[in-house]
Amino acid sequence: MHSKNAKKPKLLWLQGITCNGNTHSFLNLSSLDILLDKFELLHIPAFATQYTLEEIVECNLDCDVLIFEGTYDPLMRRADVALEKILLYYAKSASHIIAAGSCASFGGMFKAVAPERNSGILFDEEEKLGPLKEDEKKVINLSGCPIHPEWLAYILQMIVNNMNILLDELHRPLELYSPLAHHGCTRNEYFEWKVDAKSFGTKEGCLFYEQGCRAPMTHASCNKILWNEVSSKTRIGTPCFGCTEPDFPRKNLFKTKTNMSIPQDVPLGVPKRSYLTLAGIAKTFHIKRLEGKLIDYKTTP
Ligand code: SF4
Repeated sequence: MHSKNAKKPKLLWLQGITCNGNTHSFLNLSSLDILLDKFELLHIPAFATQYTLEEIVECNLDCDVLIFEGTYDPLMRRADVALEKILLYYAKSASHIIAAGSCASFGGMFKAVAPERNSGILFDEEEKLGPLKEDEKKVINLSGCPIHPEWLAYILQMIVNNMNILLDELHRPLELYSPLAHHGCTRNEYFEWKVDAKSFGTKEGCLFYEQGCRAPMTHASCNKILWNEVSSKTRIGTPCFGCTEPDFPRKNLFKTKTNMSIPQDVPLGVPKRSYLTLAGIAKTFHIKRLEGKLIDYKTTP
């Protein structure tokens, strides 16, 4: 544990091309003050911190935890210095480098600005073509568009506590990304019996077959660690877009790609033939309870 008198780890937050969505998401953390109090804050763009970005660039300080938000563009400059130079310099002194969000992890939304040039800080989609190859062992990808504030808090707390953070092959922490977003969805019973939601925003039905839900193919704990501690996309009737995966963003986010009415992608690890057999059998059952409204406002007094 981090003792009260121990030196606080120095935290630096840098940005590439970004909409600031990860910063905004992090600001929703209910325990933000308590968490940040465990760090010496060198520079975070959204806060009044110890140093301005110009000072960070000029003074060649050192940091322990480097957070990078946004897509990496090798032509970008910050405080009139090449971003590459700033990033590589601070990456050397950091013990942990966190790619905050899908842009920093895999290229994400802003890779579209210059697909050949832009990338994440270590990965370009699934390939390690980013600038931090030499420091790759330090990189932790917290993908998501935006980042889940609790996931960032969880990893920062693990760093403070000197805990070993196990990663998958895309450098995402297994504690957070080994489940699929499908795990914990309140619509799982509809998924099992193949009862589809006909539109967004309803309480009933599964969004997989007709609304493009990617949760059965997406590594994320959105339905286990809820957003704002209360909800998730699928819980309010919106499909998962698979935003934690390296191929995000895909085209036609609200559509399930099918071929002769058969979904192109089936739940991870399930052979397509087995899925189709099970789905075919499940569809032959007509379970009245699942086909009706959960609450019928017309008949409820
Ligand atoms: S809505 Fe998505 S996450 Fe929920 S059960 Fe259906 S496929 Fe799974």
